Amino acid sequence: VSCEHLICAHCSGPVAEGRCQMCRAARADLHSHGSSWSLPTAVVLAALLTLLVALALHLHL
Ligand SMILES: [Zn+2]
Repeated sequence: VSCEHLICAHCSGPVAEGRCQMCRAARADLHSHGSSWSLPTAVVLAALLTLLVALALHLHL
């Protein structure tokens, strides 16, 4: 996905140039399509915590 041809509604400049905060936010939003980062942080932390507890129980039993 490219944002080269998008024009910012805030500064009327190309979003790709990132002239204002709106541009940079839109550009960052367009380029953050990584599926590995779409999980909510809380879910990831809960999973890690569960894993640690399971490991601790396993080691102590
Ligand atoms: Zn802008």
